[in-house]
Amino acid sequence: MLTRRSLLTSVAAVFALALCLPDTARSDRPIPVVATFSILGDMVKQIGGEHVVVTTLVGPDGDTHMYQPTPADARAISEARILVVNGLQFEGWLDRLIEASDFRGVQVVATDGIEPMAYGHGADAHAEDDDHDGHAEGDDRHGHDGHDTHAEGDDHDGHDHGALDPHVWQSLRDAAVYVDNITAALARADPGNAGVFYRNRAAYVDALKALDTRISEIVAGLPAESRTVVTSHDAFAYFGRDYGLTFIAPQGLSTESEASAQDVVRLIRQIRDDGIRAVFIENIGDPRLLKRIADETGAVIGGTLYPGALSGPDGPAPTYLDMMRHNATTLARALAS
Ligand SMILES: [Zn+2]
Repeated sequence: MLTRRSLLTSVAAVFALALCLPDTARSDRPIPVVATFSILGDMVKQIGGEHVVVTTLVGPDGDTHMYQPTPADARAISEARILVVNGLQFEGWLDRLIEASDFRGVQVVATDGIEPMAYGHGADAHAEDDDHDGHAEGDDRHGHDGHDTHAEGDDHDGHDHGALDPHVWQSLRDAAVYVDNITAALARADPGNAGVFYRNRAAYVDALKALDTRISEIVAGLPAESRTVVTSHDAFAYFGRDYGLTFIAPQGLSTESEASAQDVVRLIRQIRDDGIRAVFIENIGDPRLLKRIADETGAVIGGTLYPGALSGPDGPAPTYLDMMRHNATTLARALAS
């Protein structure tokens, strides 16, 4: 039987417990989170809702490869309890930024647990090296033993810097791993709202799966001879793996690398030889090279793809799901015509 006295004691005990909780465990204060780029920022907002305040370092239409951090970024990281990064060397500037800050929170590597793809640029774009039909002129860098000079694609010598493709978010299936890593970190930081985060996660993963199914259906309808896509840089290998498309590009894995004249000549030849009819520009970076390639080959510009940054709120890709939907429908429209 609960006496008045013991009830009062219990109430006092609850108050005492509440007072003992550190500030950071109270769930009425949103968790300050920093995300390195817009896709991660969107995912954190989808899972955290009103319980997070998200600062995104590289915003809409920004190029994370080429980003130069600011003092404001260091301040944001100093105040963050959680820092969400892609990993796989996508944010080459991150370590120095963290060193320049007073970060004492938890770093979440969103790609932890995925199976990274080796950078396949060498294997795909150089397939014609094997057909012995006189493509060698002007091309000594990429002759039959040319793979050894292509360090990014081949790590036989143990030089594996940049050998793993960081653009994992281009797989809706792998994106579920990003979401799991983010959800677990939020739940640890704010256990009182863990139930909310896991409910949001479940709904979001359902949406990822539904869109994945939809894109599979869209791509399944494309003709078999119309499944090679030209983009500015090699950002779509995971998308290509999931849906059976081949992506080729004059630039490598990062927008930091310049396309060599030989790479451009090779690509133009491949577009002509394979009858590729559409090339796609990207929302980040400079479209001039792709426009020149289109002019020289007679290929059309099939539209704008979003390799690694969302659009602004009024653009076609203000969220990650919108971005993936936009990329798929843009590709399908151009390849089907
Ligand atoms: Zn990229």
